[in-house]
Amino acid sequence: MERYKGRRLQGMFAAVMAMAFFLFQLGIAEAGVSTLYPGAGNRPPKTPEWNVEKGKEEKNVSAKAAEQNGGAAKGVKKLDKKNVPMTMLSVMLGEGLASASVSGISDFEVVDGNAGKVLESCGANKSLNITVDGSYIAINGKKTKSRIVTVQAKNGADGVMKYNGSSYRGSLRLTSDGVRLQVLNQLSLEDYVKGVLPSEMSPGWHGEALKAQAVAARTFALYNRSKGGHKAVGYDLCGSSHCQVYSGMAAETAATNSAVDATRGQVMYYEHQVIYAAFHSSSGGATENSEDVWGVYQPYLRSVTDDDSKSPYHNWTAKFTVVQVEKQLASAGKGVGTLKSISLSPISSSGSVTGRTASGRAYGVKFTGSSGTVTITGEQARTIFGLKSAMFNVRTERSVKLPAAENSKKTAAASKGSQGTFSEAPAAMNGSAMKINGSETIVFDGHGFGHGLGLAQYGAKAMADKGSKYDDILHHYYTDVVIQEIY
Ligand SMILES: [Zn+2]
Repeated sequence: MERYKGRRLQGMFAAVMAMAFFLFQLGIAEAGVSTLYPGAGNRPPKTPEWNVEKGKEEKNVSAKAAEQNGGAAKGVKKLDKKNVPMTMLSVMLGEGLASASVSGISDFEVVDGNAGKVLESCGANKSLNITVDGSYIAINGKKTKSRIVTVQAKNGADGVMKYNGSSYRGSLRLTSDGVRLQVLNQLSLEDYVKGVLPSEMSPGWHGEALKAQAVAARTFALYNRSKGGHKAVGYDLCGSSHCQVYSGMAAETAATNSAVDATRGQVMYYEHQVIYAAFHSSSGGATENSEDVWGVYQPYLRSVTDDDSKSPYHNWTAKFTVVQVEKQLASAGKGVGTLKSISLSPISSSGSVTGRTASGRAYGVKFTGSSGTVTITGEQARTIFGLKSAMFNVRTERSVKLPAAENSKKTAAASKGSQGTFSEAPAAMNGSAMKINGSETIVFDGHGFGHGLGLAQYGAKAMADKGSKYDDILHHYYTDVVIQEIY
């Protein structure tokens, strides 16, 4: 595994950060912000139903894991057996519907969901209107004796169906609950990942990065299905970001499809369990330990460093008035009245700063005001203030009247009105709080985008661009996992 050695690199990382921060201050390093790719970074972290007891296990289990996984967990474990059937999934496309329009791009048929009796046989592209009549399903207004029907290619062959004008691989299953319709897409895990991948990563990225994301998306789907969150309502996965954004064939591209085909059936395991393949947009330079984000230790979600320098989110800044900070704290139930001070340990090169995680994310930010003190975690700050990540420093900026002598050195704008912006040094707040008097702008300067767990997409892209293969990328971000072909 391509893992970096601790402190020295951490020091270098901090130095790079400091430089980037300095450049940012000068306004030189502000990278153009491009399209957002995340399902990941943008998505609020999901708290998986992990066994909390696991968190109490001894943390240094890497050697043990590698041993149980059959030695050095590198490469991809191929399947000995051939012709193992593909895993099938049911994905919800619509619920509570009065009607649904269905069709097929080749000859297709509507069969009774239970008996398999053919109810309707149609030529390509003939559109059928499905409604509920009594508790049964009606096809073009004609009542059937079925509560469940399947729309599939003729004789159950592989096909592409249409639902409300959009194309889906596999078949459609429509169920009447007596009043409304539910429409599911039944398809192979492979076809599902093809419909997911382009929403998670730009199809223009390096093929090895796309392959890594394909394995992560496939693993993520199986983990979600195994948790059975939607089982009670009759399907495996929903099509929204709750599971993964699934858009059917419309989303597919040649590049993402070939990444899926090239990694067919490959899923990540840790000690024979499908892993929670968390991923995010941009690490800021180091990913995070699971317990520092979700409070639960997970042996395969460890902090690792990566090259995040080309990410458009490598440096970001977010500015608030004091009143905005007061209001946002209050609306999150963390109000402190009139804000008096903020405390946060700065990102430091020492590598052992109180109040910072292994990767440099904030453990806690303390706000003190007229009615008390609250401490929120870095993750809470991310939510409350809508920050891109929990890897940030805080400082204040205030408008100042510049002394005449200094005017000539300042910008034209500053000299005109004798006004300039004075930035307080990044709050050195180990013990000493940064005082707030109300007129300042509170500035968060941060790095990265997302919760920071597992694969970082911009880091994966950087690795791929420099020649790493997808399995090396996955083994870098997911500690001691086995990539196993399941069919
Ligand atoms: Zn879901």
